[in-house]
Amino acid sequence: MSGVELKDIRKSFGALEIIKGIDLDIRSGEFVVFVGPSGCGKSTLLRMIAGLEDVTSGMLTIGGQDVTYAEPSKRGIAMVFQSYALYPHMTVAENIGFGLSLASRPKAEIEAKVRDAAESLQLTHLLDRKPKALSGGQRQRVAIGRAIVRNPQVFLFDEPLSNLDASLRAQMRLEITDLHKRLGTTMIYVTHDQVEAMTMADKIVVLNGGRIEQVGSPMDLYNKPATPFVAGFIGSPK
Ligand code: ADP
Ligand code: MG
Repeated sequence: MSGVELKDIRKSFGALEIIKGIDLDIRSGEFVVFVGPSGCGKSTLLRMIAGLEDVTSGMLTIGGQDVTYAEPSKRGIAMVFQSYALYPHMTVAENIGFGLSLASRPKAEIEAKVRDAAESLQLTHLLDRKPKALSGGQRQRVAIGRAIVRNPQVFLFDEPLSNLDASLRAQMRLEITDLHKRLGTTMIYVTHDQVEAMTMADKIVVLNGGRIEQVGSPMDLYNKPATPFVAGFIGSPK
């Protein structure tokens, strides 16, 4: 069980409230997309789920456990960033296995997990390369591989494709949804791109100004937008 539950989650920076009370129930295995305009609080919300940012108030559970104040490493999550955040001096294999090395896992286990992740991401032939000798898409696959080897209960993605060109984005969209189908793991995916939201999500959460405008399947949002904002953002006729 690895659902994620947010109960009246709020975040202020100084006197300014950025996240204004989010209630959300994400079921185990769901692919949920947080979508909304730049500055609406998507990254802040995701970082609070990851434990990279403290919540100001509210409660967060992952897999039924209260993790509101838990260390990031104790939450069973792995996060994939837009910037890839790869180590330039390490090979692909070392980058993918780095988190496991830090956790002092046995060498044979690390090698086996790196091999499996590389195979599932078509990186096997690139394991000895350094990041600078990779394309953007390959770098993003390495970043995803680094998340996979940790067997997280929940994957968190923050605009992982925004640095890629349009055709590569389309390909990586398919690869990530395919990965979701194979692993069956809960995934929370942040984007400002309506196409990504509409094509990848089981459930879309439309955010605006730190609040939820609407939660629903892509078809729900398209056919029954709850507000003019959702209609405008999703591009449905209303
Ligand atoms: P999004 O990811 O949707 O573009 P963010 O979550 O990055 O939005 O930011 C939401 C708002 O919170 C923005 O107005 C941003 O300037 C503000 N913000 C984010 N992080 C901080 C911070 N550490 N200190 C002050 N304000 C912040
Ligand atoms: Mg952001």
